[in-house]
Amino acid sequence: MNDEQLLRYSRHILLEELGVDGQQRLLESHALVVGAGGLGCPAALYLASAGVGTITIADHDVVDLTNLQRQIAHDITTLGLPKVRSAARRMLALNPDIHVVELPEKLSGTRLLDAIAVADVVLDCSDRFAARHEINRACVQLGKPLVSGAAIRFDGQVSVFDTRQRQAPCYACLYPQGDEFEEERCATMGVFAPLVGIVGTMQAAEAIKLLAGLGEPLTGRLLTIDAFGMNLMSLGIKRQAMCAVCSTRGH
Ligand SMILES: [Zn+2]
Repeated sequence: MNDEQLLRYSRHILLEELGVDGQQRLLESHALVVGAGGLGCPAALYLASAGVGTITIADHDVVDLTNLQRQIAHDITTLGLPKVRSAARRMLALNPDIHVVELPEKLSGTRLLDAIAVADVVLDCSDRFAARHEINRACVQLGKPLVSGAAIRFDGQVSVFDTRQRQAPCYACLYPQGDEFEEERCATMGVFAPLVGIVGTMQAAEAIKLLAGLGEPLTGRLLTIDAFGMNLMSLGIKRQAMCAVCSTRGH
């Protein structure tokens, strides 16, 4: 690290659990953020400010006025731009020290696998069950830790699915595929603006912990946030022996 980096990251380096070594690991890390909406914006901004060296951000959408109530990387000057362009602009303004890869597309199939293969951690900031399941399958297949977040109305959830650990569950252990319940989306259900900030920021925290190798991640636990009554609960999640996705994994 050069002098400017030592200054920029000094408040991280002061944390004895993180220190110079942890910060160096962050600088050498690559995070993939799928979705540049309510969760992806705060997650990507904190990964950028914290100095995660390479951040790939994927989203096929463009910024519109209904996004600005909660998607804090975008603003009125980026209306109509691809969300990844808008987010990357803000991330680099915050920290020109990092490298941002923009993928203005709905990541799927081999494109998704390729993007996950080069990442050290994946943040699922998408808002559809089909995407969540596909990202989970790819992370299990490639042995990459997945930080999952969701928010609708006043209810949020965060968890870490790290199937590099033998006993750790995957997303499908918690929500089996085919068990599809009604998809609830912000467009029809509404979402409390700061809630996506809380959940997205927690995702960034878990990703940074995984990358720097510190703390206890939410692996095997589901954190639920009820922003209406402001109650947080942590529930244990068990690996399902018959899970269609992770029961056949080789590790
Ligand atoms: Zn599973």
